[in-house]
Amino acid sequence: MSAKIIDGVAIAKAVREEWKHRADKLKVRGILPGLAVVIVGDNPASSMYVRNKIKACHEVGLHSEVHDMPEDVTEEMVLRQVEELNSNPKIHGILVQLPLPKHIDANKIIEAISVEKDVDGLHLYNLGALVTGNQVFPPCTPYGVMCLLEHMNIPVEGQHAIVVGRSNIVGKPMALMLLQKNATVSICTSKTRDLKQHTLQADILIVAAGKPKLITANMIKDGAVVIDVGINRLDDGSLAGDVDFQGVKEKAGYITPVPGGVGPMTIAMLVANTISAAERISR
Ligand code: NAD
Repeated sequence: MSAKIIDGVAIAKAVREEWKHRADKLKVRGILPGLAVVIVGDNPASSMYVRNKIKACHEVGLHSEVHDMPEDVTEEMVLRQVEELNSNPKIHGILVQLPLPKHIDANKIIEAISVEKDVDGLHLYNLGALVTGNQVFPPCTPYGVMCLLEHMNIPVEGQHAIVVGRSNIVGKPMALMLLQKNATVSICTSKTRDLKQHTLQADILIVAAGKPKLITANMIKDGAVVIDVGINRLDDGSLAGDVDFQGVKEKAGYITPVPGGVGPMTIAMLVANTISAAERISR
């Protein structure tokens, strides 16, 4: 059996179009949703992600601005920038592109973002809201994965979902969102003994480890749904996920490619959260 390829590019386009209608309704009322992105230093991967986020905002007709700060900027200056954006009425969503240089405490910066503008969903309040099932701004990547499953009509309730990776950005919120939809959820980490023994049980396998080809065909069960969140730059300059796509696609029921799977969804959900933030403020 060859897996159905989940086309993240097409689904992300449909999601952006759906949210564009909501943005257009706000515009009629004189409200232009706005996103501010703060980027520190010149990490090429971060710069590319930010460019793609701004491009998506333009496509949907949102206001967007980028605040570029040099690598040696102080924590105080980043905090001041965030505070300025917190009180800027043109800005409904603030995203601080991660990773930040080591001398800046990323948690401190994220906690400084106004909860109402935390469209990346990483503030303690928003992560806590996920725990209680009252999500406000779901973190964009796991939100994008849930949206992919929904668009493909893949049932979650009662399924055994295995999440590989437990970061605050992907793994942990992913597990909570699956749990909220009544999946039976297990989380594996780099310390998990015998990863394969766990992944073989997954009806839905979500991999966010940052390790190319971590998951091979012999580690999944026939017909499993395999969602590859990983983005790894290989020595030859190409991009690869955490899943051995060629091998696994012959055994899985569904699979996301890299690139063109989860990545475009992350950006679409950022657009969605920004429009949702503007809707909340204007209620
Ligand atoms: P992270 O480094 O913060 O976390 C990685 C997690 O994977 C850790 O919890 C670690 O315990 C686990 N892990 C590492 N090696 C493992 C192994 N051999 N077996 C089991 N678990 C293992 O990374 P992150 O920020 O969560 O990102 C993970 C990957 O997803 C990266 O490749 C990143 O680039 C990618 N990513 C993609 C998107 C997107 O939009 N597609 C968004 C965010 C992150």
